[in-house]
Amino acid sequence: MGKALIIGAGGVASVCIHKCCQNSDVFEEICIASRTKSKCDALKAKLDGGKTKISTAQVNADNVDELIALINQFKPDVVINLALPYQDLTIMDACLATKVNYVDTANYEPLDTAKFEYKWQWAYRERFEQAGITALLGSGFDPGVTGVFSAYAMKHEFDEINYIDILDCNAGDHGYPFATNFNPEINIREVSAKGSYIEDGKWIETEPMEIKRVYNFPEVGEKDMYLLHHEELESLALNIKGIKRIRFFMTFGQSYLTHLKCLENVGMTSIEPIDFEGHKIVPLQFLKAVLPDPASLGPRTKGKTNIGCIFIGKKDGKEKTYYLYNVCDHEECYKEVGSQAVSYTTGVPAMIGAAMLLTGKWNKPGVHNIEEFDPDPFMDALNQFGLPWKESYHPDLVD
Ligand code: NDP
Repeated sequence: MGKALIIGAGGVASVCIHKCCQNSDVFEEICIASRTKSKCDALKAKLDGGKTKISTAQVNADNVDELIALINQFKPDVVINLALPYQDLTIMDACLATKVNYVDTANYEPLDTAKFEYKWQWAYRERFEQAGITALLGSGFDPGVTGVFSAYAMKHEFDEINYIDILDCNAGDHGYPFATNFNPEINIREVSAKGSYIEDGKWIETEPMEIKRVYNFPEVGEKDMYLLHHEELESLALNIKGIKRIRFFMTFGQSYLTHLKCLENVGMTSIEPIDFEGHKIVPLQFLKAVLPDPASLGPRTKGKTNIGCIFIGKKDGKEKTYYLYNVCDHEECYKEVGSQAVSYTTGVPAMIGAAMLLTGKWNKPGVHNIEEFDPDPFMDALNQFGLPWKESYHPDLVD
């Protein structure tokens, strides 16, 4: 049915590529491209021989001209951006210049400020609309499936949704004292930033990890979780009718937090360049280089993730509560695609988002967040491609 150019060959890209190959009726041809072509070639070698035709290329996605040349040569129907948030705008520029649809899993973040928000990407709306192409923003799990869950709850369960709590629990154990389960630089920038949530249309800021709750997650058990800033709060507060408050919580173990505090205290998480023996280095980038590669955690990680949304709102004038979530097992993911559950829960929705555009099930020129589309075909595909969802009408609530 179509061709996808996948930029990035890391943990998330690897899962997405496996899933494109499982969905070969839709993904007839893919090209995997990143700065290090050998990583792309290694993925091709693993998956070659199926129905999906795979090629690879070298590209620096910070360079718009290189991207345009690659797109013109491969002629994809969609570009799936699974590089880093820093590359979002250059890839969107290249998609605009070549009139190709765009999908990503994380919003743009400037390299020199750990601040992520949608304004930079939303600024492309009119240009994408005029070019007749669609940018689907945030097609991972969170953001991604959390937005699809919200659109589904709005469509089928509520007249208005007043409160959303997004709960992201990773109860996996990789056996290292400290490691991050996706790109360490992005992960540490995210969790060491101030927390925030939206109440009555306003952002309320908290100190990092200031708000802690304990939650008993279905199939996982009781875990400590902390309120974080997260990008989908911004779009969901605009796109879901009736929102009074929306919060995001993520679980962290004590060992992770103690290590992080220590690294912060000694300056290792800083993104300010420093002089080291005549070179400029960024402490956080150096830390990334000495930490375990997230892709290497797959064979070691045991346990489950549980990510979902608790909705409180009204249906036919009555208050109602609804919880939608997915439970994913690290070891089962590894058995299936050779990656742990955090890459899995992001790579599967990235493939599904691109499939929605390729099949024309979703077609809305402009720049859109995922909750702006019909959730039903995406919810079906989650069940089909390894992320089945569960629902509960009587969940424990978060105070
Ligand atoms: P990795 O670090 O494992 O992979 C990143 C890949 O991007 C590498 O293959 C790297 O290859 C490539 N890359 C980096 N810079 C460039 C560049 N300038 N040009 C071309 N390729 C580049 O990260 P993950 O796979 O863990 O994460 C990928 C994305 O998924 C991130 O944006 C992350 O924020 C997002 N994510 C989203 C989640 C969600 O639920 N929405 C959850 C987890 C992650 P090379 O260095 O060879 O170029």
